[in-house]
Parts: sequence; C-alpha cells; structure tokens
Amino acid sequence: MRTKTYFIQTFGCAMNEYDSERMAAAAESRGFIPCEAASCADLIIYNTCSVREKPQTKISSYLGRARIYKEKNPDIIVGITGCVAQQEGEALLKRFKTVNFVAGTDAVSRMGDIIDKALSGIRFADTGETSGVFSIGEFSRRPSVTAGVTVMKGCENFCSYCIVPFVRGKELSRKPDEILKEVERLADTGVREICFLGQNVNSYGRDLSCETDFSDLLKMADRIPSINRIRFMTSHPKDFSEKMIRTIAECEKVCRYIHLPLQSGSDRILKAMNRKYTLKEYMDKLDLARKIMPDAGFSSDFITGFPGETEDDFNDTLKAVEYAEYEHIFAFNYSPRPGTAAEQMGDTVPDEVKNERLTRLFELHGRISDARLPEFVGTETEVLVTGRKDAGVFTGCNTCGRNVNFISDTDMEPGELARVKITEARRGGFSGVLV
Ligand code: SF4
Repeated sequence: MRTKTYFIQTFGCAMNEYDSERMAAAAESRGFIPCEAASCADLIIYNTCSVREKPQTKISSYLGRARIYKEKNPDIIVGITGCVAQQEGEALLKRFKTVNFVAGTDAVSRMGDIIDKALSGIRFADTGETSGVFSIGEFSRRPSVTAGVTVMKGCENFCSYCIVPFVRGKELSRKPDEILKEVERLADTGVREICFLGQNVNSYGRDLSCETDFSDLLKMADRIPSINRIRFMTSHPKDFSEKMIRTIAECEKVCRYIHLPLQSGSDRILKAMNRKYTLKEYMDKLDLARKIMPDAGFSSDFITGFPGETEDDFNDTLKAVEYAEYEHIFAFNYSPRPGTAAEQMGDTVPDEVKNERLTRLFELHGRISDARLPEFVGTETEVLVTGRKDAGVFTGCNTCGRNVNFISDTDMEPGELARVKITEARRGGFSGVLV
C-alpha cells in the first residue's frame, strides 16, 4: 500500500512555524510522510494567520487550488488551523466544502486525534480552548541547527489594531522546567541556536506561581551546554526593563540583537494604537541598552497608514528610524481587522498614501543601512555556521541576523561558531575570512 503524504502551508509568525512542526509530528505519528507540495499530498493543512489581511485572503486562493486536487482525489483531507480557524470556526466549514476540519490555536495538542477523526469521514470544527497550565508534550522535530521554542502563548495588551488577544486568548506560560528540558533535548539532537517565542516574552511567568520571569529563564537557558546562541521574540517595549537589558548583557549566549517593535514614531498614533509607551520612553530604553551594550543591534516593526496618521505623524516615524539606526525593519500597511478597536476608527489613509509612505520608510532605512556598511569592514563578528557554500567557503548568520559568507582553510560544521573578519559589507550580507 502507498504511504500517505502530508503538506503543511504555514502563514504568519514564528509561533505558527512552531505549531506547524507540532502538527507535522502528529501527522507522522499517524503514518504520513512529508511531501514537497500540496498538489501531491493526501493531507493538506493550512496553518493560518489573521494579523494582516493578505494571509487571510490568500487562504481562499489556496483552498481554490485544494478543491481542484480534491476533484481528482476525493480522499484528500484538507484542514485549516491557526488564527483564522480559531476566529471563524464552523463558518469556514460552511463556506468551503473542500475543508474537512477546522482546528483552532489550542487544538494543536489534539492534532493526532483530529487527523483520525477527519480520516473517519467526519467534517468538524474544534476551536475549544485548553484551560489551566500551558504545556507542550515532547514531539519529534527535523534535524536543524536552529529551532524555535514557544515559552508562552496569548496576549493581554490589546493593541487597538491587533486581533491576537481575541484569537490567542489570555497569556499562559509554560513551566520553566518543561522549556529547559525541551532546549536540552534539542541540544542533544544538534540544535545550537534557540529562539524563545511568545507574543510578548516580557510577560513570561506572570501567570506562574514559581516567580520565574523571562530574565530568569534566559539566565537558566544560558547555562545549558551545547547551546551556542539564544534569541527571543517578541519584546513589547513597555515591558522591556533595565533588568532585561542587564540580563542580555550578562548572558554569554544571549544575542545582543533585540527586536523592539516601535510601530510608529508619533505619540498621538502610539496612543491611538494603545501601545502604552511614548517615543521618548521607547528611545530611553534603546539608549540605555546601547550604553550598556554598545555593540547591540536592534530591529523594529512599523505600521504605515494607521487611521488618522498625518504626514507629520509619519515624519515622526521617519525621524525615529533615522535616530534608532535599526539593523532591520519590518513594515506593513495598516489594514483593519474585524472586531478590533481600530476598526471603529475607519480606514482613513488612502491606499496610495499608505504605499507611498511604506516605500519612503524602506528607502530611508535602506539609505541609513547603506551609509553604515563601510563601518563594518575590518571589524570582527561571530558567525553561527549553517552550511557550506563552496569548497572552503562557509555560510552562517551573525548575532544581528546578517548573513555572512566566509573563507576558511579549516573545515567547519553546521552549528559551530566562527570568528570572522569582515572584508566586504553589502546590504544583502557580509563576506569575510575566518580569524
Ligand atoms: S503586543 Fe499588541 S501587537 Fe503584539 S500580539 Fe499583543 S496585542 Fe498584538
């Protein structure tokens, strides 16, 4: 008998990627093997995101293709998981006859049983929430040098534009022991860099009785042998404390690269976004982090065209980007999410203005980044080797997330750390030689 295959299409954030790995393990526990494309799969799972409009609208077009595959093979099972599944539940089953099951964000832990039920021919939606302690059992993962580890789920910040608190629910943290055991297991399988994941990792532990906060968790993980690097995302600026900054500075393995989403440089817009910090409060934290760690790098998210954003507000964002000298920025045009507070504010900035601002924002950041490039030439950077490009040429990533290709006479294995002297710096990455 032919072995059945599965394909998972993941949209959105690193936490969704992590959930997809858990679902892959569940599919494999039911005898499925991975395949390269939905067109050749017996089980197709779309792990959705509702943070922006595009991923949500993309689902309809993917399901259109799945309908064609299903016309050829009616036994194909199609599942929708993730935030859109949580939000829309049964409605998706009614709207798309192609769909066999809809499984919400908490249903990932039940995925094995969900697949069994779908295979038995039942169409259903499972959007039930798991209450109590947030726990993730052991699951097998693909061999890799880097891996994400979810430390908490949910968000209680209610930024006015964001749907996450409605679909991911209350903040719930995994117990530190469980997280550290997962990191140790990953280290045993060859993982050398971990990224702790959560909607707001700075809230980690507030719901636990053991009084471990995120700084404490970082310190504990820093002591795990064989792990060379620790990253984390995402930090809400309002909760990014001096204790966190000092912890990053003290921990040997925690990357001095901090993703701190500003979203807008205008206090008026920050207030409307319910971000709970001012530009000055944000920049004071960034300045303090730079004072304590002069080599630290930062990245940020921005939303262009938030309701009511004027040219002056947007210019404040440009000034903030100029000041912060971010390594990377991630920016998107605002799109209203149903059920959020910002939806009530209307979508007042025309699309062409949003697009034009987005372009200006990226152009400015590109110019600032390019102007800084010569500073890097001649400096040394630490690279986590991820592979070999050519004979004697290796590739990897430095602590600030820059791709680095380097020449080395010594053979290097994925996962090793290399000290590299930069000889050429381009926007797309650095080149160098092993020191
Ligand atoms: S912090 Fe704000 S933007 Fe981030 S998940 Fe929570 S509500 Fe959404």
